[in-house]
Amino acid sequence: MKLEIRELKKSYGKKQALKGINAVLTEGVYGFLGPNGAGKSTFMNILTGNLKASDGQIFYDGENVAAMGSRFREILGYMPQQQSLYPNFTAEGFLSYMAALRGMKKGRAGERIPEVLRQVGLWDVAGDKIGSFSGGMKQRLLIAQAVLDEPKILVLDEPTAGLDPKQRIAIRNLISETAVGKIVLIATHVVTDVESVANRILLIREGELLTDSTREELTARL
Ligand code: ADP
Ligand code: ADP
Repeated sequence: MKLEIRELKKSYGKKQALKGINAVLTEGVYGFLGPNGAGKSTFMNILTGNLKASDGQIFYDGENVAAMGSRFREILGYMPQQQSLYPNFTAEGFLSYMAALRGMKKGRAGERIPEVLRQVGLWDVAGDKIGSFSGGMKQRLLIAQAVLDEPKILVLDEPTAGLDPKQRIAIRNLISETAVGKIVLIATHVVTDVESVANRILLIREGELLTDSTREELTARL
């Protein structure tokens, strides 16, 4: 399992948001760390197929993901930020809706939904409306949604945003549990979000990847 990013570039008009990103990701947890405006969302949007790169390629096990199309989307799970949740859905209803959007078969969705709800500790509130959930519960539901189809690649956008310290720890533990056997990318501007869970840190600033280092190397630098 290997994700290879080659000379990936993106411009919005004259603004160069990504200036030629190169990286090779294998199984493990990667912290994708950088300040606001660094290019994290742009990179994730290209990876998830929501945005087209201006130049460069991404390969999954040697295959160009642009050519893989929906086959690549099927192996990718994405945890967006909380704004994307509909307050009137129940937790279970939301997951059913997302399963249908992903084109999961009814039988498989019926098996996976209770499984992921248990995994993230929301089984008891499966029938409750999302509007009644705390921030931490919403984050856990978004993680459940991201791992629903058992993705090989898991992309998490600011997974602990807006949470109190206790909830942050719970989310980090959950990420560690669900990360096994996957390529996981955690985008954040908060160092503490990734220093305890990530095996490797990708530092991005102004559209450039500064380092690809282990957590120990990064800690030594800071
Ligand atoms: P991050 O997610 O790290 O905060 P972004 O990828 O959102 O960074 O943004 C990278 C840079 O590109 C920023 O300077 C941002 O203002 C700019 N940018 C992002 N999206 C657009 C857009 N649609 N049009 C113009 N500039 C954009
Ligand atoms: P994030 O903090 O997650 O990167 P942003 O608030 O930067 O999110 O971006 C939200 C949306 O606004 C995105 O669709 C992004 O492409 C767009 N955007 C960001 N910066 C700019 C910009 N300078 N000009 C136009 N659109 C932008």
